[in-house]
Amino acid sequence: MSKKKSPRLATQLVRGGINRSPHKETAEAIFMTSGFVYDSAEEADARFAGTSPGYLYGRYGNPTIRILEEKLMLLEGAEECLCVGSGMAAVTASVMGVVKAGDRVIAPRALFSSCLWLLDTYLPRFGVEVELVDGEDLDQWREAAKKPVRLALIETPSNPVLGAVDLKAVAEILKPTGAIIVVDNVFATPLNQKPLELGAHVVVYSTTKHMDGQGRTLGGAILSSKAIIDEHYRDFLRHTGPAISPFNAWVILKGLETIHLRVPAQCASAAKIADAIAAHPKIARVLYPGRADHPHRAVHAKQMKGGGPLIAFEVKGGQAGAFRFLNGLELIDISNNLGDAKSLATHPATTTHRRLTEEARARIGVSPGAVRLSVGLEDVDDLIEDVIQALDKV
Ligand SMILES: *Cc1c(COP(=O)(O)O)cnc(C)c1O
Repeated sequence: MSKKKSPRLATQLVRGGINRSPHKETAEAIFMTSGFVYDSAEEADARFAGTSPGYLYGRYGNPTIRILEEKLMLLEGAEECLCVGSGMAAVTASVMGVVKAGDRVIAPRALFSSCLWLLDTYLPRFGVEVELVDGEDLDQWREAAKKPVRLALIETPSNPVLGAVDLKAVAEILKPTGAIIVVDNVFATPLNQKPLELGAHVVVYSTTKHMDGQGRTLGGAILSSKAIIDEHYRDFLRHTGPAISPFNAWVILKGLETIHLRVPAQCASAAKIADAIAAHPKIARVLYPGRADHPHRAVHAKQMKGGGPLIAFEVKGGQAGAFRFLNGLELIDISNNLGDAKSLATHPATTTHRRLTEEARARIGVSPGAVRLSVGLEDVDDLIEDVIQALDKV
């Protein structure tokens, strides 16, 4: 790629990071190897000293994985990226690589359920204090920031009912604490929201979702400045070992070649579906970040492009109503996954969020009738027809 002018996004996604082997393959090569060899003992010595470039061991890095990391850096506008074996490996490392006993972590209570488990169940075992706030309430962030804060883990739009956290405002509030702000940007996708430009220090992804985009692999990524990656994450990942398979990295990097075509199409379909069902008599309310009636619309509108590829809505009749809707779907699948080419519908209260008490679910807006829909790449009119015929059965 020409180094002179900066290529546009689509070009970067297709061509960025390519590092061809001497065979000059067109498609990126999969380096399925756990280790690397050296021409001499002196060369091994120099590699380990860091004075000679090159790979050392599969847990530390791999040429195929590096292509994925370079593409992600271009997409996110980040200085450095490290990829790992799942989204949760990325989230876990993004927190554990920073905190120590005695530190305090703040997070909104509306989080992907495993992220919440990491904070409310795992971290306290190591003497890390965790305070959960209602993410949309800046006064709660202000109150929480009166004591020292080492790290904040934020998700916006949040799982599952797509609430917003005002990233710029929270970054301003946390600035005096020196806290590292980590944003899980999975629901927005890198095409619609740029947390690093809004005051976040670290962005994490489950590449399992829209980056793979076809529901094939697990993967995760941590993106940040080179200084933060070097200080907090590089050694943590090398020595704890949540490495991604080069094969999975290859699937995901091929997925990235089309993300700029897929995600906007999914977002456009999501917006159409949200509008098409909003007035349906079996719908209590639609929660789509792109609609004017979303309670956090103002915040979503200022930091996110469009409404994103996920919709939440509440079916009348509580859990029984939601179950009748899900069981009535003929095209869309019931699944707790998201970000696939196939549209997938979830009942959070009995699956992803079943660990929470009913009260805790109510506090983050997960009612018994709530459904989350991950919009895929099918024809939008088929999706609308399927959702409406399933609602009619409720
Ligand atoms: C899926 C997801 C994760 C976890 O990713 P895995 O790849 O399943 O480990 C974390 N955060 C969000 C918002 C997710 O959607």
